[in-house]
Amino acid sequence: MVGWPFLPRALPQNETGRNPAMMALTIPPDTPSYFDEGALIGVLPTQPLDRVLDYRAPEGGCHLGAFVEVPLGPRKVLGIVWGPGQGDYDISKVRSVIRVLDAAPMRDELRTFLEKAGGYTLTPLTAMLRLATRAPGLGDPPSMRKIYRLGDTTPDRMTDARTRVLDVLRDMGGLSLTLKELAETAGVTTSVVKGLAKLGAVREEDSPRDTAFPTLDPTYAGKDLTDDQANASATLRAAVATRSYGTTLLKGVTGSGKTEVYLEAVAECLAQGRQALVLLPEIALTAEFLTRVEARFGALPAEWHSGVTVTERRRVWKMVGQGNAQLVVGARSSLFLPFRDLGLIVVDEEHDTSYKQEDGVLYNARDMAVLRASICHAQVILASATPSLESWANADAGKYQKLELTSRFGDAILPDMRAIDMRTEDLPGSSWISPTLQRAVQKRLENAEQALLFINRRGYAPVTICRACGHQIGCDHCDARMVEHRFLKRLVCHQCGETKPLPTVCPSCDAEDRLAAVGPGVERLAEEAQTLFPDARLAVLSSDMFGSARALKAEIETIAQGGADLIIGTQLVAKGHNFPLLTLVGVIDADLGLQGSDLRAAERTFQLMRQVAGRAGRADKPGEALLQTFQPEHPVIRSILSGDEHSFWKAEADERRHAGVPPYGRLAGIILSSTDVQEVFDLGNALARNDAPLRRAGAHVFGPAPAPIARVRGRHRVRLLVKAPKGTPLQAALADWVAPFKLKGELRMAIDIDPQSFY
Ligand code: ADP
Ligand code: ZN
Repeated sequence: MVGWPFLPRALPQNETGRNPAMMALTIPPDTPSYFDEGALIGVLPTQPLDRVLDYRAPEGGCHLGAFVEVPLGPRKVLGIVWGPGQGDYDISKVRSVIRVLDAAPMRDELRTFLEKAGGYTLTPLTAMLRLATRAPGLGDPPSMRKIYRLGDTTPDRMTDARTRVLDVLRDMGGLSLTLKELAETAGVTTSVVKGLAKLGAVREEDSPRDTAFPTLDPTYAGKDLTDDQANASATLRAAVATRSYGTTLLKGVTGSGKTEVYLEAVAECLAQGRQALVLLPEIALTAEFLTRVEARFGALPAEWHSGVTVTERRRVWKMVGQGNAQLVVGARSSLFLPFRDLGLIVVDEEHDTSYKQEDGVLYNARDMAVLRASICHAQVILASATPSLESWANADAGKYQKLELTSRFGDAILPDMRAIDMRTEDLPGSSWISPTLQRAVQKRLENAEQALLFINRRGYAPVTICRACGHQIGCDHCDARMVEHRFLKRLVCHQCGETKPLPTVCPSCDAEDRLAAVGPGVERLAEEAQTLFPDARLAVLSSDMFGSARALKAEIETIAQGGADLIIGTQLVAKGHNFPLLTLVGVIDADLGLQGSDLRAAERTFQLMRQVAGRAGRADKPGEALLQTFQPEHPVIRSILSGDEHSFWKAEADERRHAGVPPYGRLAGIILSSTDVQEVFDLGNALARNDAPLRRAGAHVFGPAPAPIARVRGRHRVRLLVKAPKGTPLQAALADWVAPFKLKGELRMAIDIDPQSFY
């Protein structure tokens, strides 16, 4: 049962027979905020039970929203006091809460958000709750660590090292340091400090590990803004000062100062005494960005992303809840932190597809940010150089305010964009860098400037084929070809992650040494570039080539400082990094994104090409972007080159309006999977036949059809697509529709509201 994103009514229901995902969407206003000892209360456990259970309030009573430990069968589990008990469970069997944990009770605002977000994404409440309690050791007493201050004795025997330690502590004027901090500052080993502690010259004390974050000063170091920026900043500051909900789309080319402007809104929010959250795509969460925040406010913000240690997560979670972290800079999951008084959410690079979580709970952090802000009376800023059509349409319809920064800051100008018509280039079969592009790169190398070659494909080659029999090596578990990764020396399935060594013998015909790589990936492009430019220092940026996000970010910083002449990169490089020395971007295959059947193929290509091109010419040197294409007359390519955004969006909007698809209509994807292919199709057909609840609501179902990737990890996949006019109560109709179907055995069903991917 665990891991099902959505269990229609086949899931165990609570005592009232209600499906918790469908429960009352707002907390009733007459809900008491405190329950006396012995009162009947409803507790939502963090276990995948998907129901609120009745308990009695413990000795001393408890608050609504309190984190509690409750007995469940023979076990003890963590839960939240969600409201009064239902009272329809055998009253003599109701047990008592074991204890109330030492954590701030969950606020009404967050509980309402979880209920509404769960209702929107059709996710059971316990799964939503788990998103909001992803901090380890919540129930533990505060953990302690050792800190060190100056003691009151002086050791008989002084050494250089000992003197340095005592000097550092004297300079601290009574403040304390951790062992590591003290040893590092004094330039000694930790054993020197410990030795001094034994002698009493240094005092060792216990102090809680979860300490408050340093105070940020909103007036610390504001920049002189350009007129354009100052206007935008004033509007945003005024919006934040209203302490009410509103969303603003902040649009501006890369380098126009969007970050500077939204940091002013953050400053206003902090000055109001409220908390702020800046959401970034995980990969854009760099040390460079944090340093910028520190330069603006005089101290570092709290961080929340996959690279944050377990202890630090716990600290952030607690301090955010106590109001002792004013600003969080984080990835999408920071939206579920227990803010005490959230006044502003910035979603930077709002168009980025990584805001959509594609496994577990299928939610879009951009949309959920707007939902949370509307509940907690906060402002939202959606920042992007290339906004999504959704946000563009919302601004157009007047739902969002729109601000635009039109020019780049300083002397930087937008790169000159041109197509390289590949039909007229003289290029041998297994090469991808055209002579025109080669000459352009050569020029940059001679001028000691950086060039970037972009291809949106990881690995060495997308296909490995046997020249003897034509067999293409595929994954054993998925309906996908294995991608050669020379760097890892393995074939990798990009669907399930399965890898195998590069074979020398064809698995189909046993021919020896006849396997050949077909098509380019970023590694193969790097190989070609190194041959063409043997003296250039090459840096390859692809997500799979670094052991950790930290290593990758370190490499990006080295490159930004001039540590490479030629950068070969995937999509990764398009995301908000500053490469001040970069003046040429070469896109190897501008047509690649145009091929899919994806609803957003044109939009994505347009955004990606413009983002990548925007990497060039940020500082004082003008940049150039060259797009290799076989279809220079394609409307999308033409609008990318002309930079006529408005007509691109208008054409795209017209097409989508005509087709009745988002943002002018609603979609939901239904993904069924099973190890048994017959079983999935049977369920898919049964769903399609019994579509009355959908039709009643004005919605239509398409399919079932095998998913574009029809088998992943050994499970057969079938998709249905539900389409409805805007304004349809789609979630309710979907819930009614799937309710009668029981998911037996291996069958799984996931419902994806507003799907972003259709694989
Ligand atoms: P964006 O977020 O739109 O890409 P940034 O805010 O990162 O743009 O600005 C681009 C660069 O220009 C940054 O290095 C930033 O510090 C600098 N910059 C922008 N506006 C100003 C300003 N008013 N004063 C000083 N530097 C600025
Ligand atoms: Zn696979």
